[in-house]
Amino acid sequence: MQINRIEQIHNSNFNFCSKNKCSLLFENFTSRDIYSDTNGKEFANLRNIYNNLWKNLELPENLKPRLQYKAMLSNMAFSISDYMIYVEKRLSPFKMNCRNKTGKNESILRHEIEHVRQIWDIVRLIGADNMAEEFKNNTNFNIEVTPALLKKMREIENTLGRITNNSAEYAKAQQYLKALRNYPDISQYYGMSIKEIIKHLKYKNNLLEKQARNEASKYKPTLIKTLRVIINEFCKLILH
Ligand SMILES: [Zn+2]
Repeated sequence: MQINRIEQIHNSNFNFCSKNKCSLLFENFTSRDIYSDTNGKEFANLRNIYNNLWKNLELPENLKPRLQYKAMLSNMAFSISDYMIYVEKRLSPFKMNCRNKTGKNESILRHEIEHVRQIWDIVRLIGADNMAEEFKNNTNFNIEVTPALLKKMREIENTLGRITNNSAEYAKAQQYLKALRNYPDISQYYGMSIKEIIKHLKYKNNLLEKQARNEASKYKPTLIKTLRVIINEFCKLILH
C-alpha cells in the first residue's frame, strides 16, 4: 500500500517538472531506492562485512549467530532467545549501502558481537543447564528456553569450556551475570513517560551496553568519512 503511494508521488513529480534537474533526479529514483530489498547487493555486502569481522576477531564459526532481517525500531539487535542478530529491514538500499561503505555497519555489528561474547561468558560461568533454569524461573528475562536455545548454550559450554574461579575471565563474567540480571527491559516502553526515560538511562548505563559501545567505538567512522561516502553515493545515484 505504501509503495503505491510513493510511486504516485514519484510519477506526479516526474510529470510536473519534466525537463529540469528535479525530474532527472526523480527519474533515477525507483521504489527500490526507497524501499529495501533484502535480496539486494547491499544486504549481501552486509553479510560479507559480518562474516569478515567474525573471522578477523578469530571467533569460533560454529557459534556464529545468523543474520536475519526484521522490521523493528533499532538498527540491529542480538536476540538471546533466538540466538540471532536481527537487522532492521526497512532501511533503504541507499542508506544500507552508505552504512556499509562508511564502516557504520561494521561498528554496529561489532556492538552486537560484543553482546554475543558477553552471553558466552555468562553461559561458561554458570553452565548451560543452570542458565536455562535461570531464564525459566526469572520472569525478568522474558526468554523462552527452546530446545534449540538449550542446545546452543551447551554448544557454547562445550566449545569454549567453563569459566572457573581460577580463570582470568572469572571476575568479568561475574559482573556480566550481575548486569544481565539487572538488564532493563525497555521493549514495552515506547511512550515518553518518566518511567521510560529512567529505564532508558539504566539501559545506557548497564555494563553490558557500556562495554559493547566501547568495542563498537573502535570501529566508528569519522564524520568526514561518513560525509564523503554519502555525497559520493548520492552523486552515483543521481548520475547513473
Ligand atoms: Zn547493545
